[in-house]
Amino acid sequence: KEESNTQTIKTTCAYCGVGCGIEAEVDVENRVVSVKGDPEHPSNYGRLCSKGSALGETLGLSSRLLQPQVYGRPASWDDALSLVAEKFQAVIDEYGPEAVAFYGSGQLLTEDYYVANKLMKGFIGGSNIDTNSRLCMSSSVAGHKRAFGTDTVPACYDDFTEADLIVLVGSNTAWCHPVSFQRIRAAKEANPNLKVVVVDPRKTNTCDIADLHIPVKIGSDVALFNGLLSYLYQEDALDQAYIQAHTEGFEDAIQAAQTDAFNVYTVAEKCDLAPHVVETFFRWFKETDKTLTLYSQGVNQSSSGTDKVNSILNCHLATGRMGKPGTGPLSLTGQPNAMGGREVGGLANTLAAHMEFNPDDLDRVARFWNTESLTQAPGLPAVDLFDAVADGKIKAIWVMATNPVASMPNADKVRGAIENCDFVVVSDCVAHADTLDLAHVKLPAAGWSEKDGTVTNSERRISRQRALLPLAGDSKPDWWIITQLAHRMGFKDSFPYETNADIFREHAQLSGFENSENERLRDFNISKFSDISQAEYDALMPVQWPVTQDTPNGVDRFFANGGFYTPNRKAKLVAVESRKPENLPNKDWPLVLNSGRVRDQWHSMTRTALASRLNQHKPEPFVEITPADAEKYRLQNGHLAIIKSQWGEMLARVEVTDRLPQGDLFVPMHWTSQFSNHGRMGVVVNPVVDPISFQPESKHTPVSIAPF
Ligand code: SF4
Repeated sequence: KEESNTQTIKTTCAYCGVGCGIEAEVDVENRVVSVKGDPEHPSNYGRLCSKGSALGETLGLSSRLLQPQVYGRPASWDDALSLVAEKFQAVIDEYGPEAVAFYGSGQLLTEDYYVANKLMKGFIGGSNIDTNSRLCMSSSVAGHKRAFGTDTVPACYDDFTEADLIVLVGSNTAWCHPVSFQRIRAAKEANPNLKVVVVDPRKTNTCDIADLHIPVKIGSDVALFNGLLSYLYQEDALDQAYIQAHTEGFEDAIQAAQTDAFNVYTVAEKCDLAPHVVETFFRWFKETDKTLTLYSQGVNQSSSGTDKVNSILNCHLATGRMGKPGTGPLSLTGQPNAMGGREVGGLANTLAAHMEFNPDDLDRVARFWNTESLTQAPGLPAVDLFDAVADGKIKAIWVMATNPVASMPNADKVRGAIENCDFVVVSDCVAHADTLDLAHVKLPAAGWSEKDGTVTNSERRISRQRALLPLAGDSKPDWWIITQLAHRMGFKDSFPYETNADIFREHAQLSGFENSENERLRDFNISKFSDISQAEYDALMPVQWPVTQDTPNGVDRFFANGGFYTPNRKAKLVAVESRKPENLPNKDWPLVLNSGRVRDQWHSMTRTALASRLNQHKPEPFVEITPADAEKYRLQNGHLAIIKSQWGEMLARVEVTDRLPQGDLFVPMHWTSQFSNHGRMGVVVNPVVDPISFQPESKHTPVSIAPF
């Protein structure tokens, strides 16, 4: 009988960019959901990690925001949204559209992101819409665009089983993308020839499968990959035919690489490595055609993040290891829909459908949306956006599904900015979070298990996240909330959406608008879905974009035969030279704080902390420190330490370990005021950004440490 009350629904995991498919057994009446991996989803083939497996334990209503609140009092949706519209309009009337801002999240579905971006850029006419994806993968976006002309990921997860060498750079894959790690480990067991190299200052759990660990100094990755390019050039191991036919900038890139890192000894010195380790890596790369490089936040979260990305892409372009099975660079995105946000212009410096702020694209988008208000210039990226809030230039902000008071660098400044902002709206699914608690208007959003739409994972695969349960309380989907605001601001005709499929269909139409294969050179095209019905949308199977009449089943790899999305269809090898992180240790701040994630928590823990088994793994904020540094700073394992930087301070439990180099500390990102009053890592992190991607340097902050 119990079984007859349940139904099986396929959906996608709420957490990381691996984007695992889930089969959920749902008992709607009792609000009980049990999950297992979807054996048919090509991104995970039935696997789930500890976080994904515990999703069914996080669906209780006790921690949920269930009704709109205005200045601390319960309100109707109509009252709350009318007030938001009135306040935003008043600011726009007096100070212009750049005085209001939206700040989104990789947790938003593509449909949510699409309407938020359309409302701000297309109809409010401002550009200040950015997202926490800025903190996650904007360096990869910028690097892709410089090299390929577009933000295109050339490889896919099936390359894990095709490769003979997998290089993991700045990625604790075992903890942060666990199912991809499981697949790589399985591939290694099945293929004795597959070697794994891990480039990471820390000896993380990912090193359990490493044939070679390269404990590169934080921030020195450009020197390592410039050294690799120099070595391959000197060893005559480049693919000259591919270089000639499909790239430009080769001479300059080689010259810069050789100037920066001429040989293994230069590299060893710049990266604090033993020369034989460097030489082994270079030799393996040279000897292995099927080489796949996966990289993540250790590359992206740096003041030279974009250059790091291009130094990696250069090595793949110059060897022609691009888009053939088992080859290519693949950026591992952090969030479930970081890629989907990129597709619809969730970043302040992009337009929808991977279009740019150039006259042609601006004209095209304005005509498609039938608007005369389209903004004409990029807006402020995250750090600058919150600085503008602090300076009073932005007077009204709407934060959607994220917690910048916890996650931004220099987080206490962001807290002050939000506290002093004239009007703050937060839409979230939880009742309490650092940012939400400061909001004048709180809007209850649907959470995972109620949300319904699409997400795109690291390998460009669009999957459906489906509703398993009815909306909790008075909560609403984000796209509905934004659409209702648009109506109240006078844009009803341009936001006629009644369902998620209406939005997805329009998004698909825009991706193909004046974008036939021959005329416009654009990678992101899902025009096959331009007429998708609700029933077809509901039944949508996972598929890798582009999805057009010519490629109805999607595309797994790009660029094996060139065809880059630049005017001359050639990729650019970008000349890059290594540079040190912006702030260096000194006598007052002698150590370097590195940051990251733990295996069983996600972001600011609002969902994962609800599953008690996930809290067993790492129950409180901790700081990893070497035995020598622990002795030097009089710290004992298990005692509390205070970590200070120029920007703030935090407390953490000391974990003495030899897993990281002397001089470095490691602290996880997850704890917020809700879970640990003094464990917020963001308050310590320097607000330095990469000059091209504007991604913060979250992996390198000079700090001091002392017993508490
Ligand atoms: Fe979810 Fe990522 Fe774990 Fe897959 S690997 S189950 S997407 S958290």
